[in-house]
Amino acid sequence: MRIDIMTLFPDAVGDMLVESVIGRGQERGYVRIECHQIRDYTKNRQKQVDDYPYGGGRGCVMTAQPLYDCWKRICDDAGGRLHTIYMSPCGKVFRQDDARRLSVEYERLILVCGHYEGVDERFVEECVDEELSIGDFVLTGGEIPALAVADAVCRLVPGVLPDEECYTNDSHWNGLLEHPQYTRPEMWRGRSVPPVLLSGNHEDIRRWRREASLARTRERRPDMYEKLPTRE
Ligand code: SAM
Repeated sequence: MRIDIMTLFPDAVGDMLVESVIGRGQERGYVRIECHQIRDYTKNRQKQVDDYPYGGGRGCVMTAQPLYDCWKRICDDAGGRLHTIYMSPCGKVFRQDDARRLSVEYERLILVCGHYEGVDERFVEECVDEELSIGDFVLTGGEIPALAVADAVCRLVPGVLPDEECYTNDSHWNGLLEHPQYTRPEMWRGRSVPPVLLSGNHEDIRRWRREASLARTRERRPDMYEKLPTRE
């Protein structure tokens, strides 16, 4: 999987992706993430990437030309049009199913980070295949959303995590929240680990985790709980 991120802050975004699991995935060649400075594609002396919105109003809008030229360079270098996602609070809310879909269906993705009041809609019409939001709130830029999507997609690419169980047991994979987790010591500030987890009985542990997972989902996410096909 290769992900190209179009941003006004390539260094900050790139730095986040050389750490931990995704960093190791890049080192081992399972994933590759390249950041592109949109400003490098401006054609004016000031390297200005934004302008006032037609119709008036506060703030500025990113102009289509540098976005398009940056996008086109990435696609031309790849040898064809790539699936392109604009990070936007107006997009469909990104879910684990989307991470799974993107990791399975595409070998390459372009993520576009907006800034200011967003991007000229004509760039979206011309180049963007889908718009994704990371939630019903507004951030200053698309960098954090792009990092979230890149991380969620890349950790599902075979080889990035040690095995499939690392993510198939996670929250949201099968419509459930994960059970609580515990590690050493057995007693911490007067709080003990549930005894079943120390019993060594794998069937009892499996049953306890399943019940804890169902209880947590019912309590915290009744919307998810209602959608479960079977709840025993
Ligand atoms: N004026 C826009 C609106 O009301 O929809 C918000 C623009 S926001 C300040 C600037 C950029 O941040 C957006 O172009 C987008 O790329 C990114 N952004 C902000 N919130 C986001 C979210 N919840 N999900 C994905 N991207 C987001």
